[in-house]
Amino acid sequence: MEKNFEKVLQGYQLFREKYAHGDQSVMQYLSHYGQKPKIMVVACCDSRVDPGLILQCDPGDLFVVRNVANIVPPYEKDEAHHGTSAALEFGIRFLKVNHLILLGHSQCGGIQALLNHDDANNNDFINNWVSLIKTVDIASQDVDDCAKSALNLSYQNCLTFPWIKEKVQEEQLIIHSWFFDIKSGQIFTYSHKKNTYLPLDPEHFDITF
Ligand SMILES: [Zn+2]
Repeated sequence: MEKNFEKVLQGYQLFREKYAHGDQSVMQYLSHYGQKPKIMVVACCDSRVDPGLILQCDPGDLFVVRNVANIVPPYEKDEAHHGTSAALEFGIRFLKVNHLILLGHSQCGGIQALLNHDDANNNDFINNWVSLIKTVDIASQDVDDCAKSALNLSYQNCLTFPWIKEKVQEEQLIIHSWFFDIKSGQIFTYSHKKNTYLPLDPEHFDITF
């Protein structure tokens, strides 16, 4: 059997032992009391950028939606099927999370697809999806700078959702723009005060950045 697949089967056994063993298990607890995550994450599908792993979380900690290039689309209430917007609505309106982390990352294949204009006809869905961030000034940017600009656009798009804007204004929700550098494993967080990305310092985290 393929080595990676064997690994996930072993991983499943370890998960069962750690979280689902006996009557007092984490999963029993979560099943009985339901999920009450306080943090939602919008992350990319990229296999190297798993929010639960990077932030070392347990089941029930994070409400996560992942899509190609971690894009938050603008608020569009129409007949189309809006998966990411539905997840945002679930997390923010009904689970009432207090933190929304937009987790971008380096070397993003989705962002690269946006930069490769000439590949426009090579796929069925990807180019159309990442065209949501086409308004970002990509002409002079490398893939990582473009990913950071796209994060800022997603942040602005969040505020087009009336119930997100309201919760931010009432200080019931904080939106964080985080950029994960794959090579160093380091997170950089956007500072609105300084208009730049700074290393995330867990020991001296300033909520008013
Ligand atoms: Zn990506």
